[in-house]
Amino acid sequence: GIAFLDGQYLPMSQAKVSVLDWGFLHSDATYDTVHVWNGRFFRLDLHLDRFFGGLEKLRMTIPFDRDGVAEILHNCVALSGHRAAYVEMLGTRGASPTFSRDPRQAINRFMAFAVPFGSVANAEQLQRGLRVAISDKVRIPPASVDPSIKNYHWLDLVRGLYDAYDRGAETALILDFNGNVAEGPGFNVFCVKDGKLSTPAIGVLPGITRRTVFDLCAEDGLVAAAADVSVAALKAADEVFITSTAGGIMPVTEIDGAAIADGKVGPVTGRLMVLYWQKHDDPAWS
Ligand code: PMP
Repeated sequence: GIAFLDGQYLPMSQAKVSVLDWGFLHSDATYDTVHVWNGRFFRLDLHLDRFFGGLEKLRMTIPFDRDGVAEILHNCVALSGHRAAYVEMLGTRGASPTFSRDPRQAINRFMAFAVPFGSVANAEQLQRGLRVAISDKVRIPPASVDPSIKNYHWLDLVRGLYDAYDRGAETALILDFNGNVAEGPGFNVFCVKDGKLSTPAIGVLPGITRRTVFDLCAEDGLVAAAADVSVAALKAADEVFITSTAGGIMPVTEIDGAAIADGKVGPVTGRLMVLYWQKHDDPAWS
């Protein structure tokens, strides 16, 4: 992979950041990850919107505008030589030259990198569906309070993952403050009941893949709503799937050791997976 740091394109192994950077010390950073498929970015504009929105809310400034960032991302991909890549853009508070505790003294930093695509779910998991455990860990601020700022803070999600591994599951879902289902380590969740889709409404990252599912549903005449999803409703659903840039639409066929419906990937999930990948070849969606 190739990184962009301090005005230079570097091999990933040479892209190093100071331990004094507040992004590292205080999770004082925002980032976004976008997917390249067949050499083409998928929904880059939406990722840039979310990234620049986060920078503005955190009152960080970087020396590039949207076009400048897009050009750097394209260059990282071109230099890496990968036709399928994950591309990440990052803004951090940076470090203060005087070690001041005043964030206004810090010199904000922008970085980016492109690494080869490696889906979070493998082919076998996509075919049979993932085994998920619901952890009792709760999605905590800042992610749950201002989820539009995409931040690295994952303590709750990582603890949820360990709960899931302890129980023999492959990944985890954690809860919101009311005990409803929130999201997982790097993904949103949907369920399908009687042909209607729902996904948690509050306290979760407004995922671009989640948004893409709404767009696909609108095109395909499916009804999708953002609303509370209780643990019981999720387990009683006809179909469940999770969504992320790093994996697309991924079926879930088992929750807490029990099959969802007949335990097979359902028809709505299967159809959305096909549509999702078809859109990657559609220039209108790049
Ligand atoms: N929730 C969390 C906590 C995430 O980190 C991510 C992906 N980074 C998502 C959901 C999925 O968002 P997207 O579809 O934009 O990748």
